[in-house]
Amino acid sequence: MAKDYYDTLGVQKDASPEQIKKAYRELALKYHPDRNASKEAEAKFKEINEAYAVLSDAQKRQQYDTYGPSGFGQRFSEEEIFRNFNFNDIFREMGANFGFGGEMFGGMFGQGAVREDVGQSILYRMPLTLEELAHGTVKEISVRHQKACQRCSGNGAEPGSKVRKCPECNGTGQVVTVRNTFLGSMQTITVCGRCGGRGKSYEKRCRECGGRGTTLQNEKINVTVPAGVFNGARLRLEGMGDYGQGGAGDLYVEIEELKHKIFTREGDNVMADVKVPFYTAILGGSITIPTLNGNRDVTLEAGAQQGRRMVLKGDGIKRMRGPGSGDEIVTIHIDLPHSMSPEERSLIERFRQLRDGKTVDSKHFGLF
Ligand SMILES: [Zn+2]
Ligand SMILES: [Zn+2]
Repeated sequence: MAKDYYDTLGVQKDASPEQIKKAYRELALKYHPDRNASKEAEAKFKEINEAYAVLSDAQKRQQYDTYGPSGFGQRFSEEEIFRNFNFNDIFREMGANFGFGGEMFGGMFGQGAVREDVGQSILYRMPLTLEELAHGTVKEISVRHQKACQRCSGNGAEPGSKVRKCPECNGTGQVVTVRNTFLGSMQTITVCGRCGGRGKSYEKRCRECGGRGTTLQNEKINVTVPAGVFNGARLRLEGMGDYGQGGAGDLYVEIEELKHKIFTREGDNVMADVKVPFYTAILGGSITIPTLNGNRDVTLEAGAQQGRRMVLKGDGIKRMRGPGSGDEIVTIHIDLPHSMSPEERSLIERFRQLRDGKTVDSKHFGLF
């Protein structure tokens, strides 16, 4: 379903970041579920946040403008749209204007209140050759993600700053709100807006990270790719995603199989087409076949036909389940010469003569 984020926020396509922020602020104020108990409000509020998550991020906005609403929707998952979009930070920043102390509406996206401080998971796409997939490999990748701030070791406090219990939540990190509705009183547990769920507050925020506890850092990570992995498979590297005080997110490495010059993959088997000179097909002989394990010399029997299939046992891809490897299946293509020397031509003519038992004027009936 294509969503026009500009419409959602009621701004022009060329709106400035300030105009977008202002529009978002007004709408968020109107539809925040703590202020607006109507049934539509929560859905509307989520829509507004999605639109703002994209349009407030220069890079995502550009991609959205490039691909259009439906193209963008196809390319990016909800997880990707909300990546780096931290409600707690935005609400804290806007807190005064909202007039509700920057409280986060917990569980809005199906997350428990306490999970807010868990780092985000990251998706990394890794292109690999068929050789690498067949044998397995170890690749060093560079990931730019949120890591614990080095200055404050991830707790957000300026070193030496005094620690105290958060006065807002009394150190629990959660705030319980009771609302009276026509269904009775409803209790919502939300992450404490003041401490972001940490339960602690500090005299001074860390200079380096501004109290977030994280900074964007590049990290080199070795990824072990097991042999036989399929295109599109995701390897999960637990705890290698974004840092969070409640635990780090995971890193997902998605395998992308590169097109191969010679081979195509079919399950654990690989398919290849091999050209053989016509005289080898007729007479038989040794031919060299490329495999994922290097070249192999095999014997082709005399009289091999076009399309003859040969199976090289175990030269396919290592099986992920079960022992051994798949096979390489070779299709023989008989290669005919495009031109011949006079001597070659007369030999072929001689061959035909022997077969047909008559002489043919080669000037009128060119063989090739
Ligand atoms: Zn810090
Ligand atoms: Zn608190």
